[in-house]
Amino acid sequence: MNGYGGSILRVDLTSGKVSKQPTPAEVAQKFIGGRGFGAYFLYTEVPAHADPLGPENKLIVSSGPLSGLMVPGAGKCDWTTKSPLTGGYASSSLGGHFTAEMRYAGIDSIIFEGISARPVYLVIDDDKIQLLDAASYWGRGTIEVEVALKEKHGEDFQVAVIGPGGENGVLFACINHDYGREAGRGGVGTVMGAKGLKAIVIRGTKSIPVADMDEYRKAGMALYRACIEAEGLKPWQTYGTTIVTSWCDEVGALPTRNFSAGSFEGGSKIYGAVMRDEIVITDKGCFGCPCPCGKYSHMKRYGTYVEVPEYETIGMLGSNVGLADIQAVAQANLLCDDLGIDTISAGGVIGWAMECFEKGILTTKDTDGLELRFGNTEAVFKLIEMIAYRKGLGALLAQGVKRAAQQVGKGSDKFAIHVKGMEQSAYATHNATAMLLAYMTCDVGAHHNRSWAITYDLQVGRDLVVPEKVARIIWLQDFRPMFDVLGSCRLQWVELGIDRDLYVPVLAAITGVHRTWKDLEEVGARIWNLTRMFWARENEGFGREWDLPATRFYEDPPTTGVTAGQITKLEDVQRLLDMYYEQRGWSENGLPTPETLERLGLRSMIAA
Ligand code: SF4
Repeated sequence: MNGYGGSILRVDLTSGKVSKQPTPAEVAQKFIGGRGFGAYFLYTEVPAHADPLGPENKLIVSSGPLSGLMVPGAGKCDWTTKSPLTGGYASSSLGGHFTAEMRYAGIDSIIFEGISARPVYLVIDDDKIQLLDAASYWGRGTIEVEVALKEKHGEDFQVAVIGPGGENGVLFACINHDYGREAGRGGVGTVMGAKGLKAIVIRGTKSIPVADMDEYRKAGMALYRACIEAEGLKPWQTYGTTIVTSWCDEVGALPTRNFSAGSFEGGSKIYGAVMRDEIVITDKGCFGCPCPCGKYSHMKRYGTYVEVPEYETIGMLGSNVGLADIQAVAQANLLCDDLGIDTISAGGVIGWAMECFEKGILTTKDTDGLELRFGNTEAVFKLIEMIAYRKGLGALLAQGVKRAAQQVGKGSDKFAIHVKGMEQSAYATHNATAMLLAYMTCDVGAHHNRSWAITYDLQVGRDLVVPEKVARIIWLQDFRPMFDVLGSCRLQWVELGIDRDLYVPVLAAITGVHRTWKDLEEVGARIWNLTRMFWARENEGFGREWDLPATRFYEDPPTTGVTAGQITKLEDVQRLLDMYYEQRGWSENGLPTPETLERLGLRSMIAA
């Protein structure tokens, strides 16, 4: 098949058996690749109610048809599993250079199943595939192990690795690559750790079949030219995602002290410009990216370059825990990366624990003597380590904020900021109804990257509750994650304003199949509905209640900053859901109707 490596690699960690099967053409036709393959294999292969940390759950890594080819930012792969954090669908995107090697090894997806009796790592060198003993790497940090594995196997191999967080069952552990890129959310690293898999080391040398080489070169070059000529290139390249920090602070969207406000009095000390001046020494992009947003610094301790925080981490491990010091945020980021835990969830659980402490719900008896007040830098560092090793209060927080609040009680669930058990990423959504709905209905929990709508809220009126806003969110949810299906980065479109129609000819030239964006959005809707059905299958009573936002956003207005006094009333939250379900073709309880499933070609798959 043009545009595909041609094989699905299965790794049974229980038996140690490795096998390949041809990539199924009908799955490629209906789900295209990347996140689409992940959703398909998850729904059809993981038995209902499988334990996320048991042998029946699978960890699925998938590239897309653009991955590894000369298309701007085509270095993305998707990691899908049943989430141990939420009990539903998890899918997390990883940039860098890993997926290009997957493609050059002729692999479209790797499916890990079973559990290894001893720690192992997988080495793929084209068709030579081996599981090797990882005992000497187990227990060590991600950065150190990536350096060691590259030294052992060669610099031209790419490495994806978990840290102690994933080994120890922290429910929001991530998978690291390239010294700071992560598949961060939903506990994909936890599942990898439960399987006894420390790392994947990969190199490939094959070519990817392309349907029309001349057209591919022409269309690919047009995309590159558009990126290089874009007006926004220079600021984006200088600051990366941190460019939005000052804007979020100004408009009241910067999560501050556990989302109790959206503006931070110490904000100017953690803005992108400060980070650029104080820490950043070089830029680095993912495979084939002409507009690198990765900002790197050099760490003597590790003898390598490591990535410094992007916006989400600055929000969650900066203002959300009261740290007004970019150096401290960078150190907290490095700790999380090396220990292999998601910075967004870490900032969420630490912010919640700090609020519990300041309200007297937790005391020094619960915190091993830590004065867990907002702004206490040493307490943040210490708590990150306690979480990764599940020590003391860290064991409670390692379960995520939803479970921690259920265990602690005393009303602490009212300020546990999550949707469906996933800690909300770094946009304070006080009275920003589109972004609030985006979090409420996101397919993995409260994550921003499916439908980033905070600027749209500000453009059209943040408190509006109208069908047009809902339609915008649905369009974004069907469209934006398609980049994760194609195996390419969305930020060229989001940040540089590249015309999305430029992707149509390049996809057609590579695969030989002409698809318009309308066709692609239909695939996006198919995946969205399939994963919704996965949530419903795995969780008894799943429905509307699960889509409610954190209570704080409808009951507890900020007392400071530009959003002081502002909330979205619960009746408006419910109205947003009514409109959303109707436009999606879902029942009043938020489940796809049989007609919707039929329209999207899913009915027989669900029935099976
Ligand atoms: Fe990677 Fe950033 Fe480039 Fe996207 S814009 S491909 S995330 S470096």
